[in-house]
Amino acid sequence: MRAARLLDVRSGRYVERAVVVVRGDTIESVGTSVPPGMPVVDLGDRTLLPGLIDTHTHVLLQGDATQAEYEQQILKEYPAHRVARAVRALKIALDHGSTTMRDLETEGAGYDDVALRDAVNEGVIPGPRLQVAGPALSTTGTYPILHFRPDWKFPVGVQTCDGADGCRRAVREQLSYGTDWVKVYSNTGGLHTTEDGYVDSPPNWTKEELAAVVSEAHGRGAKVAAHATSDTGARMAVEAGVDSIEHGNSIRPELAREMARKGIFLSPTIAVLAYVADPRAKEGRQIWSEIPRSHAKSVENCRKAGVKIAFGTDAGGFPWTEINQATEFEHEVRLGMTPLEAIRSSTTVAAEVLGLARRAGVVEKGAWADLVAGPGDPLRDVRVMSRVDFVMKAGEVVRRPVP
Ligand SMILES: [Zn+2]
Repeated sequence: MRAARLLDVRSGRYVERAVVVVRGDTIESVGTSVPPGMPVVDLGDRTLLPGLIDTHTHVLLQGDATQAEYEQQILKEYPAHRVARAVRALKIALDHGSTTMRDLETEGAGYDDVALRDAVNEGVIPGPRLQVAGPALSTTGTYPILHFRPDWKFPVGVQTCDGADGCRRAVREQLSYGTDWVKVYSNTGGLHTTEDGYVDSPPNWTKEELAAVVSEAHGRGAKVAAHATSDTGARMAVEAGVDSIEHGNSIRPELAREMARKGIFLSPTIAVLAYVADPRAKEGRQIWSEIPRSHAKSVENCRKAGVKIAFGTDAGGFPWTEINQATEFEHEVRLGMTPLEAIRSSTTVAAEVLGLARRAGVVEKGAWADLVAGPGDPLRDVRVMSRVDFVMKAGEVVRRPVP
């Protein structure tokens, strides 16, 4: 592979007239000269970067800005239809440059994410390599579908578990089906603003329940991601020792420092918030017009405290077909990150969350040959990241520029 420049994401410097030698699924060397006799893919005036990593997606979801949209998918769509649309989502994600994703819960589609991950690995369908969570965990009465007639049984978008023993059992059961992560909803309902401009809610769990989930997962080599959108939700998740906080709509400076100390990542999912805030506020859920401000402050607190911020979009919370995941880069920069920090969030930092450091997120000898390229200088204008037109995953070209 030859291109006008390669961004070394570690140093933040460009290598001009870069040559990346790929053998099989691995990068053999990075330099400026082509070894004799090697076929060359010349990308011309493009910037080469490591394949992108999105640490928060839902391939089995197709946008749920309103309750009605969510209920439509959970109650009415046939499982095969959802899987078919997930297959399309995987192709879209790969074409936009995501070579690796952490898909964080199926929203009523059981363990179909495990099957999709395996189908991608088998080469049956194109897609990013996946780490998956199956159904997320939450407690009874805390997650939709709620408030439908009580004498009928309706599906819930999560697996519910209660009590420390019940939660241990749920984690054991989930991991037995082949999931990589456990996702918990640390808080959901009852969001309200606080006097100092943050967001709070009651917790979904007791301390004992959350501790049981985390210790059971960690004991079996799995990691835990916590949806935490309130002060209490985030505090309890951090205290329980989860590995990543998702969304993080309310993180005061002292909690941010605690996250940094414990090495807990933040996946801020700014793109989805921009997408859902208005429709949800218009639906009568006023809190959604306040959340973006509290969220921006929280991201800033985390940045200042040195929390590792991992690129996460919540794609699927917005429609795969309408919004490119890479718009998250622009949102990250809007909230104060530099373009280089934003690019690292989706490469070196994201690889660290997934336990793939040195294999993914870098263009270096020994890493997977996951590469993207596009025209322009992403350090000057991060919107370039939405214009990726070349994608290689594990040494295989999956998208080439249209001449
Ligand atoms: Zn999500």
